[in-house]
Amino acid sequence: MKHEEDETVKGVIYRDADGNEVFQPAGMVILASFPLSNVRLLLLSEIGEPYDPESNTGVVGRNFSYQITGSMDLYFKDHQFNPFISAGGSGQVIDDFSPDTFDTEQHGFIGGSYIYTTQGPGGAIGALRTPPGTPQWGSEWKKQVREHYGHHMMLGTTGTNMSYRDVYLDLDPTYKDPHGDPLLRMTYDWKDNDLRMTEFMAARMREIVAQLQPDYHTESVKQRGDHFDPSSYQSTHLTGGAIMGTDPKTSVLNRYLQHWDAHNLFVMGASAFPQNMQHNPTGTVAALTYWSAQHIRERYLDNPGPLMSRS
Ligand SMILES: Cc1cc2nc3c(=O)[nH]c(=O)nc-3n(C[C@H](O)[C@H](O)[C@H](O)COP(=O)(O)OP(=O)(O)OC[C@H]3O[C@@H](n4cnc5c(N)ncnc54)[C@H](O)[C@@H]3O)c2cc1C
Repeated sequence: MKHEEDETVKGVIYRDADGNEVFQPAGMVILASFPLSNVRLLLLSEIGEPYDPESNTGVVGRNFSYQITGSMDLYFKDHQFNPFISAGGSGQVIDDFSPDTFDTEQHGFIGGSYIYTTQGPGGAIGALRTPPGTPQWGSEWKKQVREHYGHHMMLGTTGTNMSYRDVYLDLDPTYKDPHGDPLLRMTYDWKDNDLRMTEFMAARMREIVAQLQPDYHTESVKQRGDHFDPSSYQSTHLTGGAIMGTDPKTSVLNRYLQHWDAHNLFVMGASAFPQNMQHNPTGTVAALTYWSAQHIRERYLDNPGPLMSRS
């Protein structure tokens, strides 16, 4: 809830267990509800001008970006990987194809991608791999699961995603939550740059596959002309929508994650990233949060007001 006269927010409104709206006054509000919810709550609260892709004006919802992924699954009949003794996040990364590490221009794209392999925990369902053409149930499926469990490794790529004028978040004109508030709408598709980069990275993965010489491998790699498919899991590293910047006409926040239009509102999270630069976001989210918290503690609390001038 925004106080128009002194450019501050007054607090938050929430619903209690009985469904009643409660106003909680606050001297300072920190919005940190995951990038998509940050954007939705800003839009629902009407704080900051919503982005309009037609006129290229407004700020809330712009610069939404994602990541583009690809993977290959390698089967080795004579090797046992023991996936059940692994920690979920353990793995290896090749960073030689990340942004600014090589000349991407000659390959027809900007950005970059890391290649990784993880030895995920051998969960009862997630770790089951069967060769193409295997039925999804019955004795043949059981036979293939027995023969293939622990004989697979994966290679994956996770790539950059630039922000584009026609990729954005706004409030859905049709769908609402049970309280009658609009849901968030994502307008998104892959661009040629993403698909060209993925093609290049798939070729790099195939070089590794050729060296490792599995008995066979399968590929899940996006092709030129493919469209974004929200029905399958790819990445939850969503960024942008309430970005930081130096110009209030193109950003929601200043570099201290402080809202340009309400100096006692700080918005933490990957919604502040202007582009998605491929690496997993949480380390940077934490670093920016510490950075913002330091400036709140050392500068803002004693002297509340904008930490950066608007000009
Ligand atoms: C399946 C999955 C795998 C991931 N793997 C990785 C990874 O390997 N590496 C990596 O770097 N990142 C990963 N991420 C991303 C990572 O989870 C996020 O970057 C990180 O959690 C963001 O931190 P946050 O504080 O911005 O949001 P969150 O951690 O999502 O915290 C937001 C909090 O706000 C609460 N909230 C939301 N709305 C409201 C509301 N209206 N009122 C009150 N509370 C609210 C939520 O319940 C939540 O507790 C993954 C995410 C998912 C979903």
